[in-house]
Amino acid sequence: MHQGCPCGYYTDSRKACKCSPGKIQNYMNKISGPLLDRIDIHIELPALKYKELSQREENESSDIIKARVEKARVIQRQRLNPKVSLTMPR
Ligand SMILES: [Zn+2]
Repeated sequence: MHQGCPCGYYTDSRKACKCSPGKIQNYMNKISGPLLDRIDIHIELPALKYKELSQREENESSDIIKARVEKARVIQRQRLNPKVSLTMPR
C-alpha cells in the first residue's frame, strides 16, 4: 500500500517512515498536488519523536516512550490528515 511516500510507511502507524522530506515531496508531486500541503506533517513527526525521547528518557523505559510516540503519530496523522486514512473508503 504505497501512498504518501516512496517507502509506503508514511501513513503506517506501526512502521516509521524513513523517507526524507525531499523524497516525499517528489513522490507526492507525481501523485497529487493537494497532498503537497501535508508534507509539513511528515517533518513534524521526527521532531516530536526527538522531543519525546529527550524529555522522558529519565523516567520511562524505551518501550513506553516508543508506544507514546507511536500513539502521538497516529493521533497527529488522523487529526491533520484524516483523508489519508488508507483503509477507510471515502
Ligand atoms: Zn517513507
